[in-house]
Amino acid sequence: MLKLVRFYGYRGLRIVKGSMQYVWDDTGRRFIDCHAGHGAAFLGHSNPTIVEAVASQARELIAASSSFSTPSLEEALAEFSRVAPPWAEEIVFLNTGSEAVEAALKAAWLATGRRGVVALKNSFHGRTLASLSVTWNPRYRSGAPVLDATFISPTIDPGDVDKRVPRDTAAIIIEPIQGEGGLTRVSPELAKALKEAADRVGALLIFDEIQTGFGRTGRTWAHLELGVEPDIMTAGKSIAGGLPASAVVSRDGVLKSLAGGRHGSTHAANPLSMAAVAAASRLLRGEGVPDKARRAGALLAQLLQERLGGLRPVRDIRGEGLMLGVELRFDPGPVLRCLQESQSVLALKAGATVVRLLPPYAISRRDVEMVAYGLEQC
Ligand code: PLP
Repeated sequence: MLKLVRFYGYRGLRIVKGSMQYVWDDTGRRFIDCHAGHGAAFLGHSNPTIVEAVASQARELIAASSSFSTPSLEEALAEFSRVAPPWAEEIVFLNTGSEAVEAALKAAWLATGRRGVVALKNSFHGRTLASLSVTWNPRYRSGAPVLDATFISPTIDPGDVDKRVPRDTAAIIIEPIQGEGGLTRVSPELAKALKEAADRVGALLIFDEIQTGFGRTGRTWAHLELGVEPDIMTAGKSIAGGLPASAVVSRDGVLKSLAGGRHGSTHAANPLSMAAVAAASRLLRGEGVPDKARRAGALLAQLLQERLGGLRPVRDIRGEGLMLGVELRFDPGPVLRCLQESQSVLALKAGATVVRLLPPYAISRRDVEMVAYGLEQC
């Protein structure tokens, strides 16, 4: 048997089943899943609506190139258009978040004829070469021949942004709330300053909503709160209810540079993922998922504040909707282990010191209480 190389540290758990906000290990133990496969299971593990859509699609057609039309692609296009941000006019479907970021950057390079990229300190946009170029973490970048990016602090005075954006910039890319980086929110003032700087030099502004999007922060898209329209937006993680699918949307005329073989991917827009995107988009609207996430997130944030707010090891509690972080004064590793082992709660790390909670929207009041209690115990 080959040796499996794991990308991430092994958590010592063998997960055999999932249902909405819960997963079970091979001993039958149930966990409240605030890890949710890096947020991909936001619509719930094996959500029956997604299962039904994927199972019936699997019986009809599993593979097809996007050089053909398929009913599932047509349906995904129609349904995703209903939940897409109002300014968006073009779309491409891909498979993963990093792939969406690659395509977004490539579209900006082709549109501007330049190569410069600007991102924020502590940003995370993926680990493939172009996406890694705009990912800040030196540990991920080391040894890879990445592009030279300009990194600006997310807490910079918006008045100073203009000086920091070079003339040869093709793209400025930001997450409305930094996920991996530690739940730091971009202010409307900073977003506006970045938009103005992009317009001044003729660069494209990209909002990366791969983690924040599709209802996670209590809005369908987190950037709608910023009052700034980008040129491009990337989406991924939960847009296919947990199956691998991502999307890039843009204002008119930006993505068409990727047509005619300039870009491509064998599995892009494959029928299974497209059936799942259509079902997930319908579910998002039909079940009022963003509102449910906002309400559950507000309760979780309130309980975290009540239970942990005054504790010495806790530096801050922040985030939006069901994308919440508890910043500690130390590495959160032992707390994550304790949560898993003694509280049956799965969570993940963000930055160097933050416990990140990304539960499915279906998390119940009782679960929320258990998570806040568990964190207090750990
Ligand atoms: N962009 C953001 C904001 C992300 O959070 C992630 C993944 O965590 C990515 C890009 C990369 O997505 P993927 O891991 O699907 O390639």
